[in-house]
Amino acid sequence: LGTASVLLDEPALRARDPEAVRRLQDRLVVAALARVARQHPVYRRTLAPFASEVRGVRDLDRLPLTTKDDLLADPDGYRLEPDPSEPLDYVLWDVAYTAGTSSGSPTPIVQTSFDLRGILLAQRRMAAIRRIGPDDVVLNLYPLGPFPHGGWIRPTQAAAVIGAPVIVGMSGSSAGDVFGVTRRVAEIARLPALPTVSVLWGVPSFVLRFLESVREEGVRLPRLRVIAVSGEPCRAGLRRALAEAAAEVGATEGLTVSDSLGATELQFALVECQEGSGFHNPAPELVHVAAVDADGRQVGPDGRGRLVYTHLNRRGTVLMRYLVGDTASVTTDPCPACAWTGGTVTQLFGREGAFVKVRGMMISIDALHVAIDGIEGVRDHRIELARESPVPGAMDRLTIGIDARDPAVAPLLVERVTGVVRAVAGVTPEVRLLGGGDVWVPEERMKPVRFVDLRTED
Ligand SMILES: [Zn+2]
Repeated sequence: LGTASVLLDEPALRARDPEAVRRLQDRLVVAALARVARQHPVYRRTLAPFASEVRGVRDLDRLPLTTKDDLLADPDGYRLEPDPSEPLDYVLWDVAYTAGTSSGSPTPIVQTSFDLRGILLAQRRMAAIRRIGPDDVVLNLYPLGPFPHGGWIRPTQAAAVIGAPVIVGMSGSSAGDVFGVTRRVAEIARLPALPTVSVLWGVPSFVLRFLESVREEGVRLPRLRVIAVSGEPCRAGLRRALAEAAAEVGATEGLTVSDSLGATELQFALVECQEGSGFHNPAPELVHVAAVDADGRQVGPDGRGRLVYTHLNRRGTVLMRYLVGDTASVTTDPCPACAWTGGTVTQLFGREGAFVKVRGMMISIDALHVAIDGIEGVRDHRIELARESPVPGAMDRLTIGIDARDPAVAPLLVERVTGVVRAVAGVTPEVRLLGGGDVWVPEERMKPVRFVDLRTED
């Protein structure tokens, strides 16, 4: 297949013509289904019988959904077998692992030589949507983790494909670092090239920690104009804290905090063109994004459903109708701000299944995070569930640890957090003051753990 038959150019993706995008996706999904019917160990069994019924992305509703647990149970079963007629498309290029959750270990996602080029295309488009270009200097602040991870790998490759210089922070676990290749946060802040940096790219809470270290080291970042984040929700409080911390080290006026919705299963992210624009799909030729109802039917732009990704042109790990684990609203309408017509996740409603039972009440942990994050003066927080005692049937105990920006007002904050949590959850928490390192030690983990449930089953 030639380039024109698998790719839209950027003007076409800003032409406000969702039907043109859909027509290409229709062709690609038919080709993708033919490919998985021949070469995909799992879908050969489960999807091939439906392949003839699917003439476009609207017919995807006829196919069964794939869950994270399906993938976790048999990662190799989701990897295409090579097509002997196109051997160069199937060369193993790299593997990235999902971060892993309390219920599952990290899952490998395989990229071939063909996929790598698609990812680079998506990274170039992400940069264009975020208005990051060759005049920028990128600082990649993702840690070197215990598993290969897209966070550390892709921003550097993104800089390569847009032609911008890149500095890699090289934070990461010192525990497994027998060769001494990682840097501590303060060491990154002291790198000589740092004052040239215009784009910071990382997990938002780590970027915040880094900016505090930059300030402590007396370093200025006068060219800093974009903070590109992914890897955890970047709610209003965190956004505000990032903008303030950037201003304190001399960032340019009008600095943008550009949030994104990344996925290990894609190796790129859906990105904002401006704050609140929603997350644009940079490569609708590579992934179809939809929200589906309880019966798996795609819902319209005003509906809310489970977020589903379908790979349209991949050769390594291939997922069709894959449940990402978020609930969201999705539109194919062009963005009113930038005209992007590749599809947009307009709203994210948090993780599925994020409700837990506390003292008999169903509580949305996400709603709690949002409420606590909205309290001014709380820099970071941690929600912990435990039992009052080891006796079976003992009462649940809800503890909120907070990291106060200003220790002088901490007692007042404890009172406010107690009140807010009681209002949202209907349960009175115990509120404790924590130091930043108690919420998260960046050297030890990829991301902060802001919710732990220590209760044992009874
Ligand atoms: Zn836009």
